[in-house]
Amino acid sequence: MQRPALSLIIPVYNEEEIIAELDRRLKAFFREIDESWEVVFVDDGSYDHTPAALKELAAAEPRYKVISFSRNFGHQAAITAGMDRAEGDAVVIMDGDLQDPPEVVAAMIQKWREGYDVVYGQRSLHHGEGVFKRATAAAFYRLLRALMPIEMPLDTGDFRLMSRSVVLAMRALREQHRFVRGMVSWVGFQQTAVQYERPERFAGETKYPLRKMIRFAIDGITSFSIVPLRLATWLGLLSGLAAIVTSGWALYSSIAGETVPAWATITIAVALAASAQLIMTGILGEYIGRIYEEVKRRPLYVVADTLNLPPTDSASGREKTGKVSR
Ligand code: UDP
Ligand code: MG
Repeated sequence: MQRPALSLIIPVYNEEEIIAELDRRLKAFFREIDESWEVVFVDDGSYDHTPAALKELAAAEPRYKVISFSRNFGHQAAITAGMDRAEGDAVVIMDGDLQDPPEVVAAMIQKWREGYDVVYGQRSLHHGEGVFKRATAAAFYRLLRALMPIEMPLDTGDFRLMSRSVVLAMRALREQHRFVRGMVSWVGFQQTAVQYERPERFAGETKYPLRKMIRFAIDGITSFSIVPLRLATWLGLLSGLAAIVTSGWALYSSIAGETVPAWATITIAVALAASAQLIMTGILGEYIGRIYEEVKRRPLYVVADTLNLPPTDSASGREKTGKVSR
């Protein structure tokens, strides 16, 4: 089979209200561009009508391919599965809720034709995302950038085009806690941005509640930085200095016979030391937990079914080889 010029990877999790409109927008977009294409939908364990809707679309359009997970493995696992199977010379990751407009992909393709290997969408404006989400996202990206040893662009999500070379490099990265946008930066190659205004979600609710966002942020930091671990050294030095000063003062007071109870000082010192230690134990735990999950070497996702695609081998993410008995 000949490889298409363009692959779109679209993760979907309970997006029944959007599939029909997504299909319309995609087909309109494909009519505009002059490229061969495929779409790899990754159904991340949806339990609404999304799987049925995808099945119907795939039956009518063989270039619509579907990978269905056995349960919800998360957005980052879903785009990983897409990258494992997308065969295009250029591969684009986009959200299924039309917040990453297909029309922007045309601009990305143009940059790719100019010779760039990665073209990421940079958000100049977000419509309809609350002040809180925007402010926390902005703060997070700036913190991450300060902690990260590699350059990562600001205000970008996973909406990006990657050349086949980048996708092949990405397939080699099989870490469990995945922060795909950082991994793409890590891989390198010529990277550039296209600006776009991020529209509101077409319908439905965000699948990234605050709890998931915090977990994702911690994954981002711990995947790319060990600066938090070094915090212990700095805190230790700081409290060591404080200890020297306090000891001097304590010795002086006792020699001078000023045996004041000093209740407040002791209480504050103990509380500070205890909280610093607990924070550091927590940070150590984050990293140790990740080591534990990494050494189990579990597959990143389990595929229950595929449509218009040969079955996937869960261990490697690649096409299953050998006889498949069902
Ligand atoms: N998504 C997914 N699995 C999840 C959560 C989200 O596949 O566990 C998909 C979702 O269907 C959407 C995309 O990832 O296509 C981005 O999610 P969402 O729009 O909810 O995130 P937000 O834009 O609010 O950050
Ligand atoms: Mg969205």
